[in-house]
Amino acid sequence: MYKLKNGLSVELIQGDITEIEADAIVNAANSYLKHGGGVAYAIVKKGGYIIQKESDEYVNKYGPVPVGEVAVTSAGKLKAKYIIHAVGPRYGIEGDDKLESAIRKALEKADELNLSSIALPAISTGIFGYPYEICASIMVNVIKSYKPKSIKKVIVVLYSNEAYQIFKRIFDENL
Ligand code: ADP
Repeated sequence: MYKLKNGLSVELIQGDITEIEADAIVNAANSYLKHGGGVAYAIVKKGGYIIQKESDEYVNKYGPVPVGEVAVTSAGKLKAKYIIHAVGPRYGIEGDDKLESAIRKALEKADELNLSSIALPAISTGIFGYPYEICASIMVNVIKSYKPKSIKKVIVVLYSNEAYQIFKRIFDENL
């Protein structure tokens, strides 16, 4: 657990984000909010079809979510109150600024919803191809420079041991 000067507690956990107790779980989504693979599939499988249904309604109403932006749905059967769907960039196609933006906007959305805890996966490091090192560096910088309102705790959840070890090294070096 890291205690930051901005007041946030940050924890790195290796595991399945659908098992985490947090007010919001962040999903690594695509612009169409079609949760067909990776962490998105795991969230819908465990949380229930309501999450995909609300996602479809969102896209029908507002259009696709731009890269670097977020959208919110309920969390179905998961312990969380909300799912914040963050659309990260595809490595080499969209820029790192979009990953920075997706992470920052997920935190801002949690504050807007007056939540105290948020769990984040390694956005863009699966199907979207980002190296763990780059995602970890961007994430640590966003968390460090963030000025929280209601958020007290950020839990970063890494699925593989490899991802966990890389994030741990970069967070240890920077926090
Ligand atoms: P993206 O399209 O943004 O790359 P993915 O879902 O493919 O999204 O991958 C993002 C990260 O989430 C990857 O590091 C992947 O290993 C991880 N991941 C997959 N399933 C889970 C899960 N159940 N909990 C936490 N992280 C997960």
